[in-house]
Formats: sequence, structure tokens, C-alpha cells
Amino acid sequence: MEGLSTRLIHHPYRAPDGFDAAPVAVHKASTVFFPDVAAMRTRRWQDKSGYTYGLHGTPTTFTLEERLATLEGARHCVLAPSGLAAIALVDQALLRSGDEVLIPDNAYGPNKALAEHELAAWGIAHRVYDPMNPADLAGAITPRTRLVWLEAAGSVTLEFPDVPALVDVVRRANVGRARPIVTALDDTWGAGVAYRPFELGADIAVQALTKYASGGADVLMGAVCTRDDALHHAVLMTHMRLGLGVGANDAELVLRGLPTLALRYHAQDRSARALAAWLAEQPGVAQVLHPALPGSPGHAHWQRDARAAAALLTVVFERAVAPPQVDAFCDALRLFRLGYSWAGPVSLCVPYDVPAIRARPWPHAPRVVRLAVGLEDVDDLRADLQQALRVLR
Ligand SMILES: *Cc1c(COP(=O)(O)O)cnc(C)c1O
Repeated sequence: MEGLSTRLIHHPYRAPDGFDAAPVAVHKASTVFFPDVAAMRTRRWQDKSGYTYGLHGTPTTFTLEERLATLEGARHCVLAPSGLAAIALVDQALLRSGDEVLIPDNAYGPNKALAEHELAAWGIAHRVYDPMNPADLAGAITPRTRLVWLEAAGSVTLEFPDVPALVDVVRRANVGRARPIVTALDDTWGAGVAYRPFELGADIAVQALTKYASGGADVLMGAVCTRDDALHHAVLMTHMRLGLGVGANDAELVLRGLPTLALRYHAQDRSARALAAWLAEQPGVAQVLHPALPGSPGHAHWQRDARAAAALLTVVFERAVAPPQVDAFCDALRLFRLGYSWAGPVSLCVPYDVPAIRARPWPHAPRVVRLAVGLEDVDDLRADLQQALRVLR
């Protein structure tokens, strides 16, 4: 008889097929077994018809990818270990030395830092364009341009660009071009709920699942979704060669978040809009930036292209409010915790100095506060803001 370890490792019992329940099973593996050499030689993971290695996909990750493709209105999805890794994956899949990438001035900050430090070191140049001015994008395109990033709404200042007009600029530049320019939309803010990225014309939709898809503030993950087969193939091959993958437990957390994604999105949207409208009326507050508020930059584009809004709002203070008072307001908040990220259960607060993160002029007081509304009772959040606003007086 074989030894105990061998008998435990090569145990013959197989649970019967046919187990069925709502949760998706958590499959963990580096090694995947093949029944014979022929299977080893012919099995394909690229089209999700089989399993070859943990990094190439498991039933858990394939299921999550298919559900995310549905969420985004895409045909394909590739998972990355974070939202930023998903952005970097798109850059690496598409850009070669000598190419240029265009990034909106209000892009997620680390997207710009990646271009400034990593892409530059590989001989890939970047230019920053004004997302609220399609003519500025048109002027930034050169024969070397290969990729245009879009973001709706923009990070921190929450301008909602005219995405179809920006895509149209790229389409016109692509006429007669050997290597067409690709557009990639970071739709973390929209989360697949507020608008349909591909219907707005994007070629690629990137999402930080860390935010709404997870909803628990307990997992980091990103997705790259595409409709075009060739584009997906390019992303998938780069993903494989870079050795990117996600853990099965993390995939499970996002799979758990998806059924409540739309409910959470709309509930947090309601609270954020109520607080944004209320805050706009408070003394010391010059403006609240939130695409659903009339007067917020890009409000008309948001109204035309979106059905909902993420739970982010940015408070612009009157110039008489000094930056240390703004910091004191943040410190006085109790339910809104100081911390990055958003779309989890806990409301969050971050002060930003806009001129330090933007190339374009900023017409308001420099220090703003971005609030991310969580799932607490909205009356309690309003009371928290009210008591903290007292420090402005
Ligand atoms: C948070 C965020 C990311 C990055 O997500 P991580 O998972 O934290 O890396 C990318 N884009 C936007 C717009 C984000 O808000």
C-alpha cells in the first residue's frame, strides 16, 4: 500500500458533479492537471475553452471576467491586480518606444505619474490635454499618437467631458492612418451603471473594481474590457507575458459585490446628491462640484450621456477660507474618515491642492475637499458636515 502522504495527496474521491448554488466556487491553483500529453499540447486558455495554468484563468476568474464584460457592455474582459495595474496593462499592450499617449488634465493622478516616470523611461512621450475642449485634444494629436485616455467624470474636480465629441476627434484623426489611435476610457466613476462606455464610443473600458464592483473596501482589482477581438488579444497576450493575475479569494469578493452593485450605486448616488445640494448652500462654500448639479462643469454632457452619478462631490471653498481652515474642517469630521479610495461602506474625505495636480489654470481657491459618500444614514452625514463646517467661522 502507498504511504499515508501519497494516499492523502492522490485521494481517489471525487465529489459528484451537479452542485448548484448562487455563490461562485473559489478555485485555487497554480498547477492545473492534464489527463494526457495530447491534452497538454492542445488545450487552449486564450478563448476560455480550457485550463492550463493558474495565471491563465480558473473557473472563478473566467466567471468574473464574463460578468464584468456584461456589466460594461463588452465582449471581453481581462483582470488585473489593481485599477492602476489595469491602466498600466493598457499602456504596455499598446505603446512602443517612439509612441505618444494623450492624457486628460483631470485624469486619475497615478495614470499621469506612470506616464511621467515609467513610460518616459521607455521612450514613450505623453501630452496632457484639456478634456473640456475637444479642439485642444485635436491640437495635441501627432503622427506618433497611439493612445488617448478618457475619464468621465474626471478625478477630484469631476468635470464631465463630452466623450462622444472627444472620440469623434480621434476618429477623424484616424482616417487614412496606418496604426489607428485607440481610445481607453477609465469608467471607474460610472462603474458600468451610470453610462455605457462603448456606446459613448470608447475602444477600451478600464475600471478599478476596487471601488464600486467590490463595494467592501477590502479588495484591490482592475478590469480591462474590450469589444474588438484584436484589441482584446493584444491586451491578453501582454497580460500573460507580464505575469499579471488575481487571487481567487479576491475574485470571490468582487463576485460577491456584483449582485448589489446597482443597488449600492443608486443608494449612494441619492445620498451624495442630497449632501451636494445642501453643502452648496452653506456659508463659506463657493461651489460644490458634482456633475448632476447645474453649474458643475460638463453638467449638460452628464445629463445627455449618463443615467446616474457616483457618490463623489468636491467642495470648493470661498477664497476667504484659508487652507489651514480647510484642513481643520477635514480633521473635525467624525463619520467621514480621512482616506483614499471610495465606493465602500464608509464615507471618506481627502483635501487636495488642485494647482499642484493640474497643468491648466484653476480659477478657484486652491485647496478643495473631495468627499466620497458611503452607506451611512444621510441625516447623520449631514449632521457631521454641519458640525465640521463650524470651524470655518
Ligand atoms: C481608484 C482609481 C483607480 C485605481 O484603482 P486602484 O485599484 O486603487 O489601483 C483608477 N482610476 C480611477 C478613476 C480611480 O478612482
